[in-house]
Amino acid sequence: MLEINNLTFRYGRRLPIVLDGLKLTLGDGEIGVLLGKNGAGKSTLFKILTGLERPSSGSIVLNSCNLAAISPRERAKQVAYVPQSVTFGDLSVFDTVLTGRLAHFGLSAGEADREVVNEILEEMGLADFAERSADRLSGGEKQKVAIARAIVGNPSLIVFDEPTGNLDLANEMLLICEMKKLAKERGITILCSLHNIYEAKELGDRFFFMKNGVVAHAGGKDIFTEDVIEDVFGVRINITGRNIL
Ligand code: ADP
Repeated sequence: MLEINNLTFRYGRRLPIVLDGLKLTLGDGEIGVLLGKNGAGKSTLFKILTGLERPSSGSIVLNSCNLAAISPRERAKQVAYVPQSVTFGDLSVFDTVLTGRLAHFGLSAGEADREVVNEILEEMGLADFAERSADRLSGGEKQKVAIARAIVGNPSLIVFDEPTGNLDLANEMLLICEMKKLAKERGITILCSLHNIYEAKELGDRFFFMKNGVVAHAGGKDIFTEDVIEDVFGVRINITGRNIL
């Protein structure tokens, strides 16, 4: 279970507050979707979750473990990150995915680490790509590699920052299926930001609408009302009858 409580953050003492007592709770194997205008603080929350930034106050507890109290290496085992656009340098698909186990193996990977990578590549239909340069794959294939790299370390939480931003419709749907599988079959908790509300509704179990540094509205699929969307995004749209994309 992920429990975020009273999280407060600003980028500098003279800069405006970005998170202002944010609270959010997500159960094991649940998919939570963060929504909100550009600049609402979604990426900032992800930077804090992955340890790139430290909150001024508040706590993040994952499976009863306070993330502020553990080493960066332990945190990296617990929390994996899939960015919006992925570049892998000049590594092969195999080596890219292997880097997802860095926090486990430290300086040099062992046979067990390589075995886990092979299993994941097989499972995700990437085995035939193992020796290819990861950067030369298509957008959808790259996203799959990024997911394989995230799950190979066996994390409890995966954070996805706008993962469908660069994908076409077919790959968007594939990614959504893949994410649902991770949550349901592996029990991984997922927190994801998305700008497309129809895609969000298709993917998520719980929804968190961010505004002014807090979660202004939270709930299940029935939270998507015209009033909530108008309050958060400042536009009134007719959402009746539309379910996906
Ligand atoms: P979102 O992901 O919801 O679009 P962000 O978390 O990127 O929002 O940004 C939240 C606020 O923090 C914005 O006002 C943005 O300008 C500011 N911000 C983001 N990154 C930095 C930074 N490195 N330094 C200063 N301000 C930043």
